[in-house]
Amino acid sequence: MSSEIQPYVFDPESEEEGEMAQAQSLPGRLSMNVSEWCTCGNCARMPTEAENVCCKETPPVVRRMGDTGTPVSCMTLHSGLEPVCLNLYSLQNALNIHRADYGPLRQRTYQRRCRHLAYRSFVSWCWGYLGRKVRVIIPACVVLRSSQTQRVNMLVFGLPLAKP
Ligand SMILES: [Zn+2]
Ligand SMILES: [Zn+2]
Repeated sequence: MSSEIQPYVFDPESEEEGEMAQAQSLPGRLSMNVSEWCTCGNCARMPTEAENVCCKETPPVVRRMGDTGTPVSCMTLHSGLEPVCLNLYSLQNALNIHRADYGPLRQRTYQRRCRHLAYRSFVSWCWGYLGRKVRVIIPACVVLRSSQTQRVNMLVFGLPLAKP
């Protein structure tokens, strides 16, 4: 399962290397226990330093968490996450919007396209519009939830599961 989990850094389809602006990692995370940095209770150890970030330490995400009627303790408990970022039909629509703005997505497999669009929707929802070259780090708990949901979607809709 964990090999299915892909990096966190939202890349608005710019494949130029060395554009890691704004996505700075918090040093030492890989040598810490998850409980030392995660206060939402739903993050897990991620493969690279930069991915080990909790929703509760990401201000735009915390702001979004505060706009629910009842405050939630983790972004994955926000009732908007599924309909806005994970629902397959929302992703279909996001794909059409992306096509209109940028042309076809480069990712070859359906699963990779879904992942990209889920991250893209999450970023635009929490951060507002981001230009093509601005990158942000998506909290580990949200990456994990997105990956689980997409696996389920693939199974439910009989879509082929891609090798990462
Ligand atoms: Zn957390
Ligand atoms: Zn969380």
